[in-house]
Amino acid sequence: MSRKIAFKTLGCRLNQFETDSLASEFHNAGYKLVDFEEKADVYVVNTCTVTNQSDKKSRNLIGQARRKPGNALVVVTGCMVNSRKEALESHNASTCFIENDRKSSILPMVEAHYRGEILHPDHMDPDVFNFKPADTTFHTRSLIKIQDGCDNYCTFCIVPFVRGRAVSRPFEKIRENIQQVLDFGFREIVLTGVNIGRYDHKGTNFESLVEKILDIPGDFRMRISSIEPDGYGDRFIELFRHPKLMPHLHICLQSGSDAVLLRMKRMYTLSEFRAIVDKIRNSHPDFNLTTDIIAGFPGETEEDFRATCEVVKDIGFSHIHTFKYSIRKGTRAACMPGQVPEKTKSERSGIIRVIGEEYKRKYRSSLIGKTQHVLVEKTREHVSRGYGELYVPIEFRSPDAKKNQIREVKITGIADGEDPVLFGTPR
Ligand code: SF4
Repeated sequence: MSRKIAFKTLGCRLNQFETDSLASEFHNAGYKLVDFEEKADVYVVNTCTVTNQSDKKSRNLIGQARRKPGNALVVVTGCMVNSRKEALESHNASTCFIENDRKSSILPMVEAHYRGEILHPDHMDPDVFNFKPADTTFHTRSLIKIQDGCDNYCTFCIVPFVRGRAVSRPFEKIRENIQQVLDFGFREIVLTGVNIGRYDHKGTNFESLVEKILDIPGDFRMRISSIEPDGYGDRFIELFRHPKLMPHLHICLQSGSDAVLLRMKRMYTLSEFRAIVDKIRNSHPDFNLTTDIIAGFPGETEEDFRATCEVVKDIGFSHIHTFKYSIRKGTRAACMPGQVPEKTKSERSGIIRVIGEEYKRKYRSSLIGKTQHVLVEKTREHVSRGYGELYVPIEFRSPDAKKNQIREVKITGIADGEDPVLFGTPR
């Protein structure tokens, strides 16, 4: 009888990509994938440590896995292992901890465990790109890892300490990976990494990489996942004229105040950020822009915060992922003066959230009457749902739509409530 394995993933798309790859590998090796709530032989928790909240959730999941009945093997991996391995190990002697650079070796380690051997993670070669393309994935789009690590050292961020220095994957390997997922039948790929705008491999920078990928033959479309507003030039923006490159970017602004951006050690000023936005909107008026905002960074005054509110309204981001600043031990911001009280941080993030909801509705409503080509993610009782070029959720009725098809849909309306889906009619 095949062994059962369950995965739980926290955090960014890179973690999700890595879990997808692992799940697919285990499936191909004969394991049965089950929900985390079910009884399994192996539980894998892919942790995140970007905020205190992420640490708390990671600990909860590890605890849940360890309390499962039976003698399940618990494998903990991801950024929290890199940042707190010693503390975690001292509380969890019977659980296996695997750092990010050996995450791709979980299958051989689990197999060795069942053969009664002990394969210590340190005996596996570290390789952050050794993930096989997932053919059994939890998603319709295939994530393509092009880069890992970061050299920016923003003062609030723990990621460079847990993912390490920036490394880029050679184009040939990326092309092979893309070809494999297209052969599996994926119609959409998403470039992902920690700081992908800083891709740099033997003279190929990010924009030339994107250009080379767009030249790969095949019927596919491509998205860029979260990106910092630095490291690329106008050529990158021009590439959005290419029909394969989808007009959506999640560009991380973090604050609308230059004083705060400087203390965060971000690599741009507000006017540089705005110049990028203007160029994008001039070349593509409907372009979908989304962002991250940190509320209550140390020293953020009322005036700084008001400036952020004005900027996000003015740019009209269609989605804002807002975090309350949280102290990460080991980062420079942790010991900065002017830590903002918790109550103020909550109020400010609440205000940003309300603005985000208002502008999300405005943006989505502005698309009524327009047409999108929707990649169908699910269909149920003749109602299909998916995302069009602009990465906005769209639902339509059709008796014959199928998962993974691309359907042309005219947008006719918008739902009520938060995160409103758009309704449409297929052509
Ligand atoms: S660019 Fe800044 S926020 Fe992004 S991963 Fe690097 S250090 Fe962290």
